[in-house]
Amino acid sequence: MVDMLVGFCRRGNLYSPRYEPVVSRLQARLAEAEARGESVVFLADSHLPDDPEFAMFPSHCVEGSGEDEVVPELRGFADRGTTVTKRTFSGFHETRLDEVLRRLAPRVRFDDNAVGLLDDAHRSLRRSLRSRTSMMTGTPSRPYRARSRFSR
Ligand SMILES: [Zn+2]
Repeated sequence: MVDMLVGFCRRGNLYSPRYEPVVSRLQARLAEAEARGESVVFLADSHLPDDPEFAMFPSHCVEGSGEDEVVPELRGFADRGTTVTKRTFSGFHETRLDEVLRRLAPRVRFDDNAVGLLDDAHRSLRRSLRSRTSMMTGTPSRPYRARSRFSR
């Protein structure tokens, strides 16, 4: 799970209401994954107030602000799984993700759903950022299109 945090899903400079339906879908997917005995890794932004990323993005998910916490609906999964904090948008830059994945490797499954969920999360973040940027610059953003992959 990548950045399913209060600072993106509930409030803050990079908040987007578009995460709401994603959270409940992920809740269901994570419950299924746990039932299958799969390992779940959460990647979580946890910034220092002067992190270089804030030259590109508005301040968000600063350590101890509450924005750096996993949303309550998914927190139990994070507590039972593994959480890797990061200070940039890369999950691998100066983090222990590589070590964690190597440890879990025999049981990690990169199926279409997992990859799809990651892609969706990243697309959603990019859309959110585009929308924020357009608000700041006055440039119209692309219209939001509902995704079918979460429809059942
Ligand atoms: Zn960040």
